[in-house]
Amino acid sequence: MRVTHLGIKHPHTFLRKALALIRKHRVAKISPILYLVNGYHYSSRSPHPQFYVVERAGSKLVCNCPGFQRYGFCTHTCAVMILESKQMTRLEKAAKESAGFG
Ligand SMILES: [Zn+2]
Repeated sequence: MRVTHLGIKHPHTFLRKALALIRKHRVAKISPILYLVNGYHYSSRSPHPQFYVVERAGSKLVCNCPGFQRYGFCTHTCAVMILESKQMTRLEKAAKESAGFG
């Protein structure tokens, strides 16, 4: 994961934010290539819910948030990446146990 050389000062905090988005169910898959993320807008004094769209473009993930425009990476794309890998693990587990999924 290319995080440290993209101008993000605290990659650990960054990853924790991404994980928090998943744990709080703020990442929703709305199509095979589109995710809707209920993030927060930090440029204002009082953060308010803000929805961002993460789109899969080939092997890349693209987000429409200001952070992505600036750094080419953000907590939303990071959350989707983690979520996708998590789903893979869950699917593998479900396949082994031959139990219901979800
Ligand atoms: Zn974003």
